[in-house]
Amino acid sequence: MSLVDSFGRKINYLRLSVTDRCNFRCLYCMPENGVPKVDHHEILSYEELLLLARSVVPLGIEKIRVTGGEPLVRAGVIDFLGELSRIPKLRQLVLTTNGYLLDEMALQLLSAGVQRLNISLDSLKPDNFAAITRGGDLGRVLKGIRTAEEAGFPIKINVVAMRGINDDEFEDFAAWTLEKPYAVRFIEYMPTNREDTWTSKVIAGEEILSRIGNRFSMQPVVRGEMAGPSRDYRISGAAGTIGVITPISGHFCRDCNRIRVTSQGMVKNCLFADTEVDLKPVLRSGNVVALQEVLRRIVSEKPGKHLMSETDTVHKPFAMSKVGG
Ligand code: SAM
Ligand code: SF4
Repeated sequence: MSLVDSFGRKINYLRLSVTDRCNFRCLYCMPENGVPKVDHHEILSYEELLLLARSVVPLGIEKIRVTGGEPLVRAGVIDFLGELSRIPKLRQLVLTTNGYLLDEMALQLLSAGVQRLNISLDSLKPDNFAAITRGGDLGRVLKGIRTAEEAGFPIKINVVAMRGINDDEFEDFAAWTLEKPYAVRFIEYMPTNREDTWTSKVIAGEEILSRIGNRFSMQPVVRGEMAGPSRDYRISGAAGTIGVITPISGHFCRDCNRIRVTSQGMVKNCLFADTEVDLKPVLRSGNVVALQEVLRRIVSEKPGKHLMSETDTVHKPFAMSKVGG
């Protein structure tokens, strides 16, 4: 069975947010004082999240990414991941984290069956890192990354590229891959808040590659079967790779294979779609057939492409912490 949208795209990837809370307050993602607290009842329980996952995998979802907010701050997340990993026919279980709790949790994540980690890290300078995350401790995150690497995790590092904020560090990140077997991916800054000055922060993937290419010689990496939207390169002799993810400058919408569900059970068929469908009523009814029907409909209504880079198109601003990236 597979989920195919009206543009013929196979949808096999679910991004599942388990919380909108976080122990960081990244400038581009969270308000300084965090997100308003929501009633406990508004957040999907682990049982509901599992029912959802067990209902979508038979429809054709092969990969689930658990995200947040910061997924590792939700109590009980390890047991939940263990249950997810035991879903028959789920090929990939991966997690996105800010890395703050990795030093203590990496081994438990591995035992729970998580196959790969994406770790967000926008600066290799302690002061800049603290400024971007509003207080994050770079040393602690780097220690967590090392622990995860030693535990045997393949590691991807996500760097949100922002002009005037961390664009003096691209070459440092690239040099890091000479030693470290990490896949460092630069992601174009996205206007989730739709602030007036957003375009001045965006640095196109091509510019990032050309800046790195001025210092290092690099070759394209052949894409794997379940490769995501990143275009990857390896600097000659490097242990790791660098890549760019270009939601703004280069449309990857034509290869989009994903849907997203927030911790409050809102399903989004495009990151920048203004419409969301509340899965809570159908999830709480326990009617799997009805749930699968709603999911099929949402996939069939997936837009062909987002219009966020068109300056005259206005989507409703949203906090990425609610949607999970
Ligand atoms: N807390 C986890 C973390 O930071 O990895 C998971 C959730 S976070 C919302 C998921 C991803 O979204 C992170 O890699 C983050 O950098 C990215 N993100 C958030 N806001 C963004 C924006 N405006 N533009 C580009 N990426 C963004
Ligand atoms: Fe938290 Fe991740 Fe958002 Fe940063 S990007 S505030 S770590 S949810």
